Amino acid sequence: TTVSVWIPGDQLLLQHPAIQIAEEQTTREQIHIILIESLERLRLFPYQRKKIVLLLSAMRHYADRLRTEGYQVDYIQAKSFVEGLQEHARRIQPQQLITMAASEYDTRYLQQKELEKLIGIPVTVVANTQFLVELYSPFANRKETRHAVMEPFYRAMRQHYGILMDGKESPSGGRWNYDELNREPLPRQLSVPPIVTFAPDSITQEVIELVNTFENGVGTTTHFEYAVTHEQAQQALNDFIECRLSRFGPYEDAMSTQGSVLYHAQISLYMNIGLLDTMEILQAAEAAYRQEQVPIQSVEGFIRQILGWREYMYWQYWQQMPDLRTANSWNAQRPMPQMFWDGQTRMNCIKHVATRVLDSGYSNHIERLMVVCNFCQLAGVKPYDVAAWFLSCYFDAYDWVVLPNVIGMGLNADNGRTTSKPYIASGKYIDRMSNYCKGCTYSPNKRTGPDACPFNFLYWNFLIENETRLRAGRSNQNVLGLRHINDQERLEIIQEARQFLQDTLQF
Ligand code: SF4
Repeated sequence: TTVSVWIPGDQLLLQHPAIQIAEEQTTREQIHIILIESLERLRLFPYQRKKIVLLLSAMRHYADRLRTEGYQVDYIQAKSFVEGLQEHARRIQPQQLITMAASEYDTRYLQQKELEKLIGIPVTVVANTQFLVELYSPFANRKETRHAVMEPFYRAMRQHYGILMDGKESPSGGRWNYDELNREPLPRQLSVPPIVTFAPDSITQEVIELVNTFENGVGTTTHFEYAVTHEQAQQALNDFIECRLSRFGPYEDAMSTQGSVLYHAQISLYMNIGLLDTMEILQAAEAAYRQEQVPIQSVEGFIRQILGWREYMYWQYWQQMPDLRTANSWNAQRPMPQMFWDGQTRMNCIKHVATRVLDSGYSNHIERLMVVCNFCQLAGVKPYDVAAWFLSCYFDAYDWVVLPNVIGMGLNADNGRTTSKPYIASGKYIDRMSNYCKGCTYSPNKRTGPDACPFNFLYWNFLIENETRLRAGRSNQNVLGLRHINDQERLEIIQEARQFLQDTLQF
C-alpha cells in the first residue's frame, strides 16, 4: 500500500511520529513524504525575509535528508496547502494520508475537520510531539483552569519530567526559583562572546535568490547566517551551552546597545521548526550543570524559559483559541505605530530594538516584553496589530507563541488568563536594565516636560486612566505611587500623554 505523510514546514523533526506510523504500515519505498511551499502561507504577512529563507532552506535540506534515507519525497510549490495536497493525491493516489497535528490552530483545524473531504482519501492526524505539554499536562485534571499560573505549571513539569531535580520532590540547588539573582544589567567591561554563524550553502543561496523576488517583506536576505540543518542547530546549541549559558541567568533581563543576543541562546528559531528537540536541550543544559560548568541560577533560568514559559505559552494558546485572536480586554484601539515598522523615532530604546528586529529578525525576550509590549500597552495599541507586527518581523514568531505571549502576557488583553497583571513599567525600569537611556534625547528621570521620557507620562497616564481596575487586580503596588502626584501634575501627565499619542502615532 502507498501511504503519504504530510509534514508542515515547522515540523522538521528527526524522529517524526507520522513517518514512524507510516513505517509500521508499509515499506519505506511506498512512503511518500509531502513538503509544501505554500504561496498563500508565505504571504499571510509581510514576513521578515530572513525568516522565510530559514524556513524554506531548512525544508529543502530536510527533504534531501529524507531522500538519502530512502523515502520518496514530493516537494511541492503550490498556491495553498490544500491545492498542493489535492495535486499530490491525484498524481500518487495513496491509500491514506498521515500527518502530525499542527501547532497552529488554522492548520490543525484544516487537518482535523476539512482535509479528508478536500482530498478524498482517509486522513490520520497523530498527536503533536514537539511540545512536552502535549504528552503530559499539569492542569489536565483541574476543573477550573481560568486562573492557572505559570509557576505551579513549571514546577509540575519539572517534577513530572525529572528535570533539574534531586529525587522526586526537591529541586536541584534547593530552590525552584532564582529570579531575584537574575535581574542584573550588563556590566560595561564585559565583552560578550560572539555567536556561531553559518555561511549559506548552495541550497540556501538558491532560496535567497527566490526570496529576493518577493515584493512584500521586512528586512533583507543579506548576512543570512543561521543554521538550516539539525547538525548546525546542534552546533548553535553546543556553542551556547559552552560559551554563554553560565552567564545567561544574571543577564537574561539585560538590554544593551551592543546587541540583543548577549548571553541568550538564540535557538528558539530552530526549536520552533523542529531542528532541535526540547528534551535534548533540557538534558544538555542540565548535564552542563551536573558537570559543574554552569551555576544553578543560570541553568534554572534557562530551563524555566523552555519547560516553564515556552510550554505554558503553548498550553495557553490551546486553552484560549480561537478567542485569543480577538481578545482586547483593555479596549485598546490605536494602530501599531509606524516607528516599529521603520525604526524612525527619537526614543532610543525603541529605535534600537525595532531596527534590530527589522534587520535581523531578533530581539531578546525582555526587549519584546518591556520595550515593545510595554509601550504598546501603555499607548493603547490594538492587541492583534501588535501580534501581527511580531508575526511579520521575528524569525521565531509563530501563531502558537505570539498570541499568548503578546496578546496574553505582554498586553494582558485576555482578561488575565495568561498572567494575572499587566507587565508595565516606566522609563526608570528601562534605564536600570539597559544603556539605552544614556544616548537618548529624553530623560528617564522626568515625568513631564519637553524632554520627559514618553514611557514615564504614558505609564502614569495609564495608571490614572485605569486606577480602579488596577486596584482591584494585583497592581495595587503600582497604583500606590499615584498618591505622590498632585492634581496639577496629573493634569499635565494626561495632556502630555494625549499630545504625544496624537503627534507620534498620528491618531
Ligand atoms: Fe527609552 Fe525613555 Fe530611556 Fe529614551 S529615556 S531610551 S525613550 S526609556
